Amino acid sequence: MKTTEILRVRAREILDSRANPTVSATVTVRRGLQEYEGAAAVPSGASTGEHEARELRDGNESRYHGRGVLTACAHVNGEINAALRGCDAAAQEHVDARLRALDGTDDLSRLGANAVLAVSLAAARAAANAYGLPLYRYLGGTGACTLPVPMMNILNGGAHAANNLDIQEFMIVPTREGATFAERLRMCAEVYHALRGVLVSRGLSAGIGDEGGFAPNLRTPADACGLILEAIGLAGYTAGESGDFALALDAAASEWVTEDGAYRMPKIRRDFTPKQLSSYWKSLCGRFPIISIEDPFGENDWESWAALTRSSGRRLQLVGDDLFVTNAGRIRQGIELGAANAVLIKPNQIGTLSDTFGAIETAKTHGYRVILSHRSGETEDSFLADLAVAAGAGQIKTGAPARGERTAKYNRLLAIEDELLYPAHLN
Ligand code: PGA
Ligand code: ZN
Repeated sequence: MKTTEILRVRAREILDSRANPTVSATVTVRRGLQEYEGAAAVPSGASTGEHEARELRDGNESRYHGRGVLTACAHVNGEINAALRGCDAAAQEHVDARLRALDGTDDLSRLGANAVLAVSLAAARAAANAYGLPLYRYLGGTGACTLPVPMMNILNGGAHAANNLDIQEFMIVPTREGATFAERLRMCAEVYHALRGVLVSRGLSAGIGDEGGFAPNLRTPADACGLILEAIGLAGYTAGESGDFALALDAAASEWVTEDGAYRMPKIRRDFTPKQLSSYWKSLCGRFPIISIEDPFGENDWESWAALTRSSGRRLQLVGDDLFVTNAGRIRQGIELGAANAVLIKPNQIGTLSDTFGAIETAKTHGYRVILSHRSGETEDSFLADLAVAAGAGQIKTGAPARGERTAKYNRLLAIEDELLYPAHLN
Protein backbone atom coordinates (compact mmCIF):
# COMPACT_ATOMS: atom_id res chain seq x y z
CA MET A 1 0.00 0.00 0.00
CA LYS A 2 1.30 3.45 -0.86
CA THR A 3 1.77 5.48 2.27
CA THR A 4 3.32 8.72 1.01
CA GLU A 5 1.66 9.42 -2.33
CA ILE A 6 3.02 12.38 -4.27
CA LEU A 7 0.21 14.83 -4.98
CA ARG A 8 2.21 17.54 -6.71
CA VAL A 9 5.68 18.90 -7.37
CA ARG A 10 6.37 22.60 -7.77
CA ALA A 11 9.52 24.66 -8.34
CA ARG A 12 10.49 28.26 -8.10
CA GLU A 13 13.54 30.29 -9.09
CA ILE A 14 15.33 31.64 -6.01
CA LEU A 15 18.74 33.23 -5.37
CA ASP A 16 21.90 31.51 -4.18
CA SER A 17 24.62 33.10 -2.06
CA ARG A 18 26.38 34.55 -5.13
CA ALA A 19 23.32 36.39 -6.48
CA ASN A 20 22.74 33.70 -9.09
CA PRO A 21 19.37 32.02 -9.58
CA THR A 22 18.85 28.43 -8.49
CA VAL A 23 15.99 25.94 -8.18
CA SER A 24 13.87 25.41 -5.08
CA ALA A 25 11.32 22.58 -5.27
CA THR A 26 8.44 21.55 -3.04
CA VAL A 27 6.90 18.09 -3.03
CA THR A 28 3.48 17.58 -1.49
CA VAL A 29 2.47 14.09 -0.35
CA ARG A 30 -0.56 12.51 1.27
CA ARG A 31 -0.24 10.01 4.09
CA GLY A 32 -3.55 8.86 5.46
CA LEU A 33 -5.83 11.88 5.44
CA GLN A 34 -3.04 14.35 6.04
CA GLU A 35 -0.92 16.31 3.54
CA TYR A 36 2.77 17.02 4.11
CA GLU A 37 5.32 19.13 2.28
CA GLY A 38 9.04 18.88 1.78
CA ALA A 39 11.19 21.55 0.13
CA ALA A 40 14.77 21.61 -1.05
CA ALA A 41 17.03 24.08 -2.84
CA VAL A 42 20.09 23.16 -4.88
CA PRO A 43 23.53 24.78 -4.73
CA SER A 44 25.87 25.62 -7.60
CA GLY A 45 29.65 25.39 -8.02
CA ALA A 46 32.21 27.75 -9.54
CA SER A 47 35.09 25.33 -10.04
CA THR A 48 32.86 22.66 -11.54
CA GLY A 49 34.28 19.40 -12.84
CA GLU A 50 33.85 18.61 -16.53
CA HIS A 51 32.28 15.23 -15.65
CA GLU A 52 29.54 16.67 -13.42
CA ALA A 53 25.84 16.40 -14.14
CA ARG A 54 24.68 19.54 -15.97
CA GLU A 55 22.62 22.26 -14.42
CA LEU A 56 20.21 23.82 -16.90
CA ARG A 57 20.54 27.58 -17.39
CA ASP A 58 18.15 29.59 -19.55
CA GLY A 59 20.88 31.26 -21.59
CA ASN A 60 18.68 34.28 -22.14
CA GLU A 61 21.20 37.09 -21.66
CA SER A 62 18.54 39.66 -20.81
CA ARG A 63 17.83 37.91 -17.48
CA TYR A 64 20.54 37.21 -14.87
CA HIS A 65 23.23 37.24 -17.58
CA GLY A 66 21.80 34.04 -19.02
CA ARG A 67 21.93 32.19 -15.69
CA GLY A 68 18.16 32.09 -15.06
CA VAL A 69 16.58 28.72 -14.23
CA LEU A 70 13.01 29.32 -15.42
CA THR A 71 13.27 26.48 -17.95
CA ALA A 72 14.45 24.08 -15.25
CA CYS A 73 11.55 25.18 -13.02
CA ALA A 74 9.11 24.77 -15.92
CA HIS A 75 10.33 21.19 -16.35
CA VAL A 76 9.55 20.52 -12.69
CA ASN A 77 6.10 22.07 -12.88
CA GLY A 78 5.31 20.33 -16.15
CA GLU A 79 6.93 17.03 -17.09
CA ILE A 80 8.29 16.06 -13.68
CA ASN A 81 5.06 16.87 -11.87
CA ALA A 82 3.12 14.75 -14.35
CA ALA A 83 5.58 11.84 -14.13
CA LEU A 84 5.80 11.69 -10.34
CA ARG A 85 2.18 12.28 -9.40
CA GLY A 86 0.91 9.13 -7.69
CA CYS A 87 4.42 7.78 -6.94
CA ASP A 88 5.41 6.87 -3.41
CA ALA A 89 7.82 9.56 -2.17
CA ALA A 90 9.32 7.06 0.26
CA ALA A 91 10.36 4.81 -2.63
CA GLN A 92 13.36 7.05 -3.28
CA GLU A 93 15.09 4.73 -5.75
CA HIS A 94 11.91 4.45 -7.77
CA VAL A 95 11.39 8.22 -7.76
CA ASP A 96 14.99 8.80 -8.82
CA ALA A 97 14.90 6.10 -11.50
CA ARG A 98 11.81 7.72 -12.89
CA LEU A 99 13.47 11.12 -12.96
CA ARG A 100 16.49 9.66 -14.74
CA ALA A 101 14.39 7.80 -17.29
CA LEU A 102 12.30 10.90 -17.95
CA ASP A 103 15.44 12.95 -18.56
CA GLY A 104 16.97 10.34 -20.83
CA THR A 105 20.56 11.67 -20.78
CA ASP A 106 23.56 10.52 -18.71
CA ASP A 107 24.33 13.97 -17.36
CA LEU A 108 20.70 15.05 -16.79
CA SER A 109 21.21 17.90 -19.23
CA ARG A 110 17.73 17.73 -20.77
CA LEU A 111 15.63 18.44 -17.69
CA GLY A 112 18.60 19.92 -15.81
CA ALA A 113 20.42 18.34 -12.87
CA ASN A 114 19.31 21.36 -10.86
CA ALA A 115 15.63 20.55 -11.56
CA VAL A 116 16.09 16.81 -10.93
CA LEU A 117 18.10 17.12 -7.71
CA ALA A 118 15.74 19.69 -6.18
CA VAL A 119 12.85 17.27 -6.66
CA SER A 120 14.81 14.22 -5.52
CA LEU A 121 15.77 15.92 -2.24
CA ALA A 122 12.36 17.50 -1.70
CA ALA A 123 10.70 14.08 -2.09
CA ALA A 124 12.90 12.68 0.68
CA ARG A 125 12.06 15.57 2.94
CA ALA A 126 8.34 15.27 2.26
CA ALA A 127 8.47 11.57 3.11
CA ALA A 128 10.47 12.25 6.29
CA ASN A 129 7.90 14.82 7.34
CA ALA A 130 5.06 12.43 6.56
CA TYR A 131 6.67 9.78 8.76
CA GLY A 132 7.34 12.35 11.49
CA LEU A 133 11.06 11.60 11.48
CA PRO A 134 14.04 13.98 11.49
CA LEU A 135 15.60 13.87 8.03
CA TYR A 136 18.89 12.28 9.21
CA ARG A 137 16.95 9.50 10.96
CA TYR A 138 14.65 8.93 7.99
CA LEU A 139 17.63 8.70 5.61
CA GLY A 140 20.09 6.91 7.89
CA GLY A 141 18.01 4.79 10.26
CA THR A 142 18.87 4.17 13.89
CA GLY A 143 22.57 3.83 13.06
CA ALA A 144 22.78 7.50 12.08
CA CYS A 145 24.42 8.87 15.20
CA THR A 146 27.89 10.14 14.23
CA LEU A 147 28.46 13.84 13.76
CA PRO A 148 30.99 14.77 11.08
CA VAL A 149 34.21 16.61 11.81
CA PRO A 150 34.17 19.95 9.98
CA MET A 151 36.91 20.77 7.50
CA MET A 152 36.48 24.47 7.80
CA ASN A 153 37.55 26.72 4.95
CA ILE A 154 38.76 29.92 6.64
CA LEU A 155 40.98 31.30 3.88
CA ASN A 156 39.71 31.44 0.30
CA GLY A 157 41.54 31.64 -3.01
CA GLY A 158 41.23 30.25 -6.54
CA ALA A 159 37.91 30.74 -8.30
CA HIS A 160 36.25 31.71 -5.00
CA ALA A 161 38.12 34.92 -4.29
CA ALA A 162 39.40 38.02 -6.04
CA ASN A 163 42.84 37.71 -4.40
CA ASN A 164 46.16 36.30 -5.66
CA LEU A 165 46.05 32.84 -4.02
CA ASP A 166 45.79 29.94 -6.46
CA ILE A 167 44.93 27.26 -3.91
CA GLN A 168 41.17 27.45 -3.56
CA GLU A 169 40.69 26.46 0.08
CA PHE A 170 42.79 26.58 3.22
CA MET A 171 40.95 24.63 5.88
CA ILE A 172 41.35 23.93 9.58
CA VAL A 173 40.36 20.53 10.93
CA PRO A 174 39.62 20.34 14.66
CA THR A 175 41.22 16.96 15.30
CA ARG A 176 41.13 17.12 19.12
CA GLU A 177 40.30 13.66 20.48
CA GLY A 178 36.86 13.14 21.94
CA ALA A 179 35.50 16.64 21.26
CA THR A 180 31.80 17.07 20.53
CA PHE A 181 30.65 18.74 17.33
CA ALA A 182 29.67 21.84 19.33
CA GLU A 183 33.18 22.03 20.79
CA ARG A 184 34.80 21.59 17.40
CA LEU A 185 32.60 24.32 15.93
CA ARG A 186 33.50 26.69 18.76
CA MET A 187 37.22 25.96 18.36
CA CYS A 188 36.99 26.75 14.64
CA ALA A 189 35.03 29.95 15.17
CA GLU A 190 37.61 31.12 17.72
CA VAL A 191 40.44 30.50 15.25
CA TYR A 192 38.43 32.30 12.54
CA HIS A 193 38.24 35.38 14.78
CA ALA A 194 41.92 35.10 15.66
CA LEU A 195 42.78 34.94 11.96
CA ARG A 196 40.87 38.14 11.33
CA GLY A 197 42.98 39.75 14.09
CA VAL A 198 46.21 38.46 12.52
CA LEU A 199 45.24 39.83 9.10
CA VAL A 200 44.16 43.23 10.41
CA SER A 201 47.31 43.59 12.51
CA ARG A 202 49.40 43.10 9.36
CA GLY A 203 47.39 45.56 7.32
CA LEU A 204 45.95 42.75 5.20
CA SER A 205 42.37 42.63 3.95
CA ALA A 206 39.82 40.93 6.19
CA GLY A 207 37.30 40.85 3.33
CA ILE A 208 35.88 37.43 2.56
CA GLY A 209 35.50 35.04 -0.38
CA ASP A 210 32.56 32.99 -1.60
CA GLU A 211 32.66 30.43 1.21
CA GLY A 212 33.04 32.99 3.99
CA GLY A 213 36.78 32.55 4.52
CA PHE A 214 39.10 35.56 4.41
CA ALA A 215 40.59 36.43 1.05
CA PRO A 216 43.74 38.51 1.57
CA ASN A 217 46.50 38.97 -0.98
CA LEU A 218 49.48 36.94 0.22
CA ARG A 219 52.84 36.15 -1.32
CA THR A 220 52.60 32.35 -1.25
CA PRO A 221 50.39 29.46 -0.08
CA ALA A 222 53.03 28.84 2.60
CA ASP A 223 52.35 32.34 3.95
CA ALA A 224 48.66 31.45 4.15
CA CYS A 225 49.42 28.28 6.13
CA GLY A 226 51.77 30.26 8.39
CA LEU A 227 49.11 32.87 9.20
CA ILE A 228 46.57 30.16 9.99
CA LEU A 229 49.02 28.42 12.34
CA GLU A 230 49.60 31.76 14.04
CA ALA A 231 45.83 32.21 14.45
CA ILE A 232 45.52 28.72 15.93
CA GLY A 233 48.20 29.59 18.49
CA LEU A 234 46.67 32.98 19.29
CA ALA A 235 43.31 31.31 19.92
CA GLY A 236 45.05 29.14 22.53
CA TYR A 237 45.22 25.92 20.56
CA THR A 238 47.94 23.63 19.26
CA ALA A 239 48.42 22.31 15.75
CA GLY A 240 49.95 19.09 14.52
CA GLU A 241 49.92 15.47 15.53
CA SER A 242 47.94 14.90 18.74
CA GLY A 243 47.24 18.66 18.81
CA ASP A 244 43.90 20.43 18.53
CA PHE A 245 44.07 21.23 14.82
CA ALA A 246 45.46 20.08 11.53
CA LEU A 247 45.36 21.82 8.15
CA ALA A 248 43.70 20.71 4.91
CA LEU A 249 43.85 22.13 1.38
CA ASP A 250 41.65 22.05 -1.69
CA ALA A 251 43.86 22.94 -4.64
CA ALA A 252 41.06 22.53 -7.21
CA ALA A 253 43.93 21.89 -9.63
CA SER A 254 41.62 21.02 -12.53
CA GLU A 255 41.55 24.80 -12.89
CA TRP A 256 45.33 24.78 -13.44
CA VAL A 257 45.63 22.22 -16.24
CA THR A 258 47.35 23.50 -19.38
CA GLU A 259 46.76 22.33 -22.95
CA ASP A 260 49.82 20.08 -22.88
CA GLY A 261 48.74 18.31 -19.69
CA ALA A 262 51.00 20.30 -17.35
CA TYR A 263 49.92 22.79 -14.69
CA ARG A 264 49.94 26.55 -14.36
CA MET A 265 48.81 28.39 -11.25
CA PRO A 266 46.81 31.03 -13.14
CA LYS A 267 47.06 33.92 -10.71
CA ILE A 268 50.79 33.91 -10.02
CA ARG A 269 51.55 32.31 -13.42
CA ARG A 270 53.83 29.63 -12.04
CA ASP A 271 54.31 26.52 -14.20
CA PHE A 272 54.68 22.94 -12.98
CA THR A 273 55.15 19.59 -14.62
CA PRO A 274 52.98 16.94 -12.91
CA LYS A 275 56.10 15.67 -11.11
CA GLN A 276 57.04 19.15 -9.93
CA LEU A 277 53.52 19.68 -8.64
CA SER A 278 53.75 16.41 -6.75
CA SER A 279 57.04 17.53 -5.17
CA TYR A 280 55.46 20.86 -4.32
CA TRP A 281 52.70 19.12 -2.34
CA LYS A 282 55.21 16.94 -0.53
CA SER A 283 57.34 19.89 0.47
CA LEU A 284 54.30 21.88 1.68
CA CYS A 285 53.22 18.86 3.76
CA GLY A 286 56.75 18.63 5.16
CA ARG A 287 56.57 22.22 6.40
CA PHE A 288 53.01 22.32 7.74
CA PRO A 289 50.69 19.90 9.58
CA ILE A 290 48.57 19.22 6.48
CA ILE A 291 46.55 16.00 6.72
CA SER A 292 44.40 16.25 3.61
CA ILE A 293 44.70 17.58 0.05
CA GLU A 294 41.75 17.70 -2.32
CA ASP A 295 42.19 17.77 -6.10
CA PRO A 296 46.00 18.11 -6.03
CA PHE A 297 45.90 17.23 -9.76
CA GLY A 298 43.46 17.62 -12.63
CA GLU A 299 40.30 15.58 -13.15
CA ASN A 300 41.82 13.43 -15.93
CA ASP A 301 45.37 13.05 -14.61
CA TRP A 302 44.82 9.57 -13.11
CA GLU A 303 48.52 8.79 -13.36
CA SER A 304 49.69 11.64 -11.11
CA TRP A 305 46.88 10.91 -8.69
CA ALA A 306 47.87 7.25 -8.43
CA ALA A 307 51.58 8.08 -8.04
CA LEU A 308 50.97 10.51 -5.17
CA THR A 309 48.57 8.04 -3.53
CA ARG A 310 51.25 5.34 -3.69
CA SER A 311 53.92 7.55 -2.17
CA SER A 312 51.88 9.56 0.35
CA GLY A 313 48.46 7.93 0.70
CA ARG A 314 49.31 6.25 3.98
CA ARG A 315 49.80 9.49 5.88
CA LEU A 316 47.86 11.93 3.73
CA GLN A 317 44.16 12.00 2.90
CA LEU A 318 43.87 12.55 -0.86
CA VAL A 319 40.38 13.66 -1.78
CA GLY A 320 38.85 13.32 -5.23
CA ASP A 321 36.30 16.03 -5.97
CA ASP A 322 36.45 16.95 -9.68
CA LEU A 323 38.17 13.58 -10.15
CA PHE A 324 35.19 11.53 -8.95
CA VAL A 325 32.26 13.98 -9.25
CA THR A 326 30.20 11.80 -6.85
CA ASN A 327 29.97 9.24 -9.66
CA ALA A 328 30.17 5.57 -8.61
CA GLY A 329 31.63 4.63 -12.00
CA ARG A 330 34.48 7.11 -11.69
CA ILE A 331 35.05 6.12 -8.05
CA ARG A 332 35.40 2.48 -9.17
CA GLN A 333 37.89 3.60 -11.81
CA GLY A 334 39.89 5.37 -9.10
CA ILE A 335 39.81 2.32 -6.87
CA GLU A 336 41.15 0.15 -9.69
CA LEU A 337 43.97 2.57 -10.40
CA GLY A 338 44.73 3.27 -6.74
CA ALA A 339 43.99 6.97 -7.21
CA ALA A 340 43.06 8.96 -4.05
CA ASN A 341 41.85 7.49 -0.76
CA ALA A 342 38.84 9.71 -0.08
CA VAL A 343 35.81 10.92 -2.01
CA LEU A 344 34.13 14.30 -1.84
CA ILE A 345 30.37 13.89 -2.05
CA LYS A 346 28.32 16.68 -3.63
CA PRO A 347 24.76 15.61 -4.47
CA ASN A 348 24.46 18.13 -7.32
CA GLN A 349 27.45 16.63 -9.13
CA ILE A 350 25.43 13.46 -9.78
CA GLY A 351 21.87 14.77 -9.61
CA THR A 352 19.82 12.37 -7.48
CA LEU A 353 19.80 11.31 -3.84
CA SER A 354 19.92 7.58 -4.74
CA ASP A 355 23.01 8.07 -6.90
CA THR A 356 24.58 10.09 -4.09
CA PHE A 357 24.06 7.15 -1.71
CA GLY A 358 25.41 4.85 -4.43
CA ALA A 359 28.63 6.86 -4.59
CA ILE A 360 28.96 6.87 -0.79
CA GLU A 361 28.41 3.12 -0.66
CA THR A 362 30.98 2.43 -3.39
CA ALA A 363 33.58 4.56 -1.60
CA LYS A 364 32.94 3.02 1.82
CA THR A 365 32.94 -0.55 0.57
CA HIS A 366 36.47 -0.03 -0.73
CA GLY A 367 37.81 1.76 2.32
CA TYR A 368 37.77 5.21 0.78
CA ARG A 369 36.83 7.95 3.23
CA VAL A 370 33.74 10.03 2.62
CA ILE A 371 33.42 13.81 3.00
CA LEU A 372 30.07 15.52 2.42
CA SER A 373 30.37 18.91 0.76
CA HIS A 374 28.46 22.08 0.00
CA ARG A 375 29.12 24.16 -3.13
CA SER A 376 30.60 27.63 -3.33
CA GLY A 377 27.20 28.99 -4.40
CA GLU A 378 24.84 27.83 -1.62
CA THR A 379 21.40 28.36 -0.18
CA GLU A 380 20.10 28.31 3.37
CA ASP A 381 18.95 24.71 2.86
CA SER A 382 20.61 22.45 5.46
CA PHE A 383 19.87 19.09 3.78
CA LEU A 384 23.61 18.42 3.62
CA ALA A 385 23.92 18.38 7.43
CA ASP A 386 21.29 15.65 7.79
CA LEU A 387 22.80 13.75 4.89
CA ALA A 388 26.25 13.81 6.49
CA VAL A 389 24.88 12.26 9.69
CA ALA A 390 22.70 9.79 7.78
CA ALA A 391 25.70 8.62 5.74
CA GLY A 392 28.02 8.44 8.73
CA ALA A 393 30.36 10.49 6.56
CA GLY A 394 32.89 11.33 9.25
CA GLN A 395 33.77 14.68 7.67
CA ILE A 396 31.94 17.66 6.21
CA LYS A 397 33.05 20.69 4.20
CA THR A 398 30.65 23.56 4.48
CA GLY A 399 32.76 26.68 4.54
CA ALA A 400 33.65 29.25 7.17
CA PRO A 401 31.67 29.70 10.39
CA ALA A 402 30.27 32.88 8.86
CA ARG A 403 27.51 33.74 6.36
CA GLY A 404 24.04 32.30 6.77
CA GLU A 405 24.22 29.74 3.97
CA ARG A 406 27.26 28.15 5.72
CA THR A 407 26.05 28.47 9.32
CA ALA A 408 22.69 26.95 8.30
CA LYS A 409 24.50 23.61 7.99
CA TYR A 410 26.59 24.04 11.14
CA ASN A 411 23.59 25.14 13.19
CA ARG A 412 21.58 22.19 11.93
CA LEU A 413 24.41 19.87 13.02
CA LEU A 414 24.31 21.47 16.48
CA ALA A 415 20.58 20.71 16.65
CA ILE A 416 21.14 17.11 15.54
CA GLU A 417 23.87 16.64 18.14
CA ASP A 418 21.51 17.97 20.80
CA GLU A 419 18.83 15.50 19.73
CA LEU A 420 21.29 12.62 19.81
CA LEU A 421 22.93 13.55 23.12
CA TYR A 422 19.85 14.73 24.98
CA PRO A 423 16.83 13.03 23.42
CA ALA A 424 14.75 13.95 26.48
CA HIS A 425 14.87 17.59 25.36
CA LEU A 426 12.61 16.64 22.51
CA ASN A 427 9.68 16.10 24.82
P1 PGA B 1 32.78 24.64 -6.08
O1 PGA B 1 33.94 24.51 -5.01
O2 PGA B 1 31.50 24.48 -5.37
O3 PGA B 1 32.99 26.01 -6.64
O4 PGA B 1 33.03 23.55 -7.08
C1 PGA B 1 33.92 23.61 -3.95
C2 PGA B 1 35.03 22.61 -4.08
O5 PGA B 1 35.80 22.63 -5.06
O6 PGA B 1 35.16 21.76 -3.20
ZN1 ZN C 1 37.00 20.84 -4.37
